This record gives sequence, structure tokens and C-alpha cells, in this order.
Amino acid sequence: MPELPDVETFKRYLNVTSLHQRIEDVDVRKAYVLKDTSARELARKLKGRRFELSRRHGKHLFVRADDDVWLRLHFGMTGSLQYFKNDEQAPRHTRVLFAFANNHCLAFDDQRQFGQISLLTDVDEFLKKRALGPDALDLDLGKFRKILAKHRGAVKSILMNQRLIAGIGNIYADEILFRTRVHPATEISLLDGKALTKLFRATHYILQKAIAAKADVNRMPKSWLLPHRGKGGKCPRCGRKLRSAKVGGRTAWFCAHCQSRRQSR
Ligand SMILES: [Zn+2]
Repeated sequence: MPELPDVETFKRYLNVTSLHQRIEDVDVRKAYVLKDTSARELARKLKGRRFELSRRHGKHLFVRADDDVWLRLHFGMTGSLQYFKNDEQAPRHTRVLFAFANNHCLAFDDQRQFGQISLLTDVDEFLKKRALGPDALDLDLGKFRKILAKHRGAVKSILMNQRLIAGIGNIYADEILFRTRVHPATEISLLDGKALTKLFRATHYILQKAIAAKADVNRMPKSWLLPHRGKGGKCPRCGRKLRSAKVGGRTAWFCAHCQSRRQSR
């Protein structure tokens, strides 16, 4: 499921492939992907324009085509972008295809069909309406601590709550907690100032490093949880078998030995 590092990678990919080229055609192949717009409106608003710049907030990618025409892309569970020449075959699960004047296309590919595309006139208004928290990479330590201090619950659920902090999902929450040796079900109020500072640093470190690795697990350090995550996986730190548990409705992977569950004093 694309999280902040994946979406940032899509943003950079779109920036180097698809900006400043005349949009000749917009081909919507599956209508489920459109939210609050139609294939007709999408084509009408975009044809003849160019994607000028992009902006990311959490797991949303926004692409500006005019002062008040923004395309919003959300990648759901399996969404991705593919840029290719007209005469090459489109990806198998192409849902929307943007054709440019330079004989290239950008495909929004989405096998599981949880992706979303919509049109906006104002990005900030959208963020407000959705009540999304600040982007995880925009936070400074003070703000991060303030947000976490105000809420109760499992630390992992709080990290994944898009209304508190936008961008972190199941995979990277686990990775951040593995790095800080905190059990995912730990009640947030049991973490002291020092632990919260560590959590903040780990959040930045993991997200930045994952972006540098283009969110590709094969490029990530073997000392991370991600390459080992899943059934039969072993902790890269101590070699013990990784465990899983449901936390906040999602499957958390962790090492029960390295990530102790803090108890109240
Ligand atoms: Zn371990």
C-alpha cells in the first residue's frame, strides 16, 4: 500500500517525465477511479493544458494543470504511475491514460482498484475538509511531541492516524517502531520525552531513507524490518522469529525480544 515514501517517489517520477507537455487526450478506462468528477469533465479540464507542478501531502499527490485546476491522485493499495511511448503497450491495469503531444503517455495503473482520481480547485481547502494532519516530513520535534502528547492509544495507531500525522501507514509505522525498539501496542502515554524525541528522529530517518531508496524494498538496508517482514521472517538484530499481531486493525510485524512492551510504572 503506497505510503509517504512511495507517493514521494511517484511525485519525483511524474516531475521528471510528465511536466510541461501538452495533454492531448485523457482516456478513462475504468470509472471507479474517478471521485466527484466524470470522464468528460476530466478530459474537458485537462485537454490542451499542461501539468505544471506537483505537490504531495501525506499519501495524496496533487498535480496542477492551471491556476484552479488540480488533479488529485491517491494510490489506494496498488496504484502506480508508468510513463511510456505511445507505441509501447500500456500497463495491464491501466485505469486512466494521459496522452501527451510528444507521443508519450502517463498511465495510472491500479490492479486492486482502490485508487482515486479527482479534480480540485484548491488543495488547501481539500486538506482542511479531509481534516488531514500535517505531512510527516513537515513536522518539527515540538509539533510532533505536541500531537502525540494530546492523544491516547497504541503508539502505532497514532502514527498511522492520517488526521494526526499524514503519510505513515502500516509498513513504515512498523519500521519506525522497530528502529526505536518500541512495541507497536505500547500505550503512547507511557513514552516519555526522550522516547518521543527518538520516535521523531526515527520517523524522519526512515521516511527520508526510504525515499532515497525509491521506496524499493530491494534497495533498503538489510538491517531494516521491511526485507524480513512476513511469515518466517527473522529479526535482523537478534535473529529471533518475527511476530505479528493486530494493532489498530492492521497487522503489525515486530520482534518481541527487541521491542519490549512498556508497562506503566
Ligand atoms: Zn530482535
